[in-house]
Amino acid sequence: MLYQPTQDNIGFVRRMRRGLNGLGRSKMCCVCGKTFFRFSKYRGGWDVFSAYLHNVKWTGSDFDNFWCPFCRSHDRERHLILFFEKLGFWDRLAGAAILHFAPEKRLAIRIEACRPARYVKGDLVPAREGVEKMDVTAIPYAADTFDWVLCNHVLEHVPDDARALREIYRVLKPGGTAILQTPYASGLAKTLEDAAEIDTDEKRVEFYGQEDHIRLYGRDLFDRIRAAGFALELKRHDECLPDVDAQRFGVNRDEPLFLCVKPKSDV
Ligand SMILES: [Zn+2]
Repeated sequence: MLYQPTQDNIGFVRRMRRGLNGLGRSKMCCVCGKTFFRFSKYRGGWDVFSAYLHNVKWTGSDFDNFWCPFCRSHDRERHLILFFEKLGFWDRLAGAAILHFAPEKRLAIRIEACRPARYVKGDLVPAREGVEKMDVTAIPYAADTFDWVLCNHVLEHVPDDARALREIYRVLKPGGTAILQTPYASGLAKTLEDAAEIDTDEKRVEFYGQEDHIRLYGRDLFDRIRAAGFALELKRHDECLPDVDAQRFGVNRDEPLFLCVKPKSDV
């Protein structure tokens, strides 16, 4: 008779592995504060990603240092938390009106702790209680409503991303800030989006990095964001977080913070 592992067995093995991992000191999670030997990889890590994505310098998640084995934070929210800490954003979130798309669980907990005046969480397919069903291309709020919009790793899934950007711009108050983290290829001048040729899950993984991405942004991503009216400032890890060892904290040092501000007045 074949051995069938039960949920309890799997839990035990995972707990053992995690316990051993926790003896390490080389990595540290900025969310839970634990130290350990290694973060968990995403889908086998960088080695299994396509030659194409390596060649065009795909910039997004750190696939080799993805999940924290203890709190399950992923690299993108750890990086944002480190940026927010450094830039003093937690103070600015206090008393603010915030719209957060596809809300990252641990980042949301940190935001709630800041006591914003209003904190709306939205998702096209809400997976948790307290998250409103919301389409980023038709945001059901009036113009000039929010001080902050967080919309991270969403645009690469949205067919009409220009409309999504215009909607985010519309609901932001003048002077408000959007954080628009999106994977892109720094070695690619123009965005690759070819639904006719790149038409299977395998091809989308090969060329876009994930089966549910519908394009791979190139450097023209910056122009697309500016075209919606935003003043875009890219905050680089090395200039903003020079004291944060990206390998130790499990973040991608090549991923900048996309700081997008709605100008106070149209001139
Ligand atoms: Zn953690």
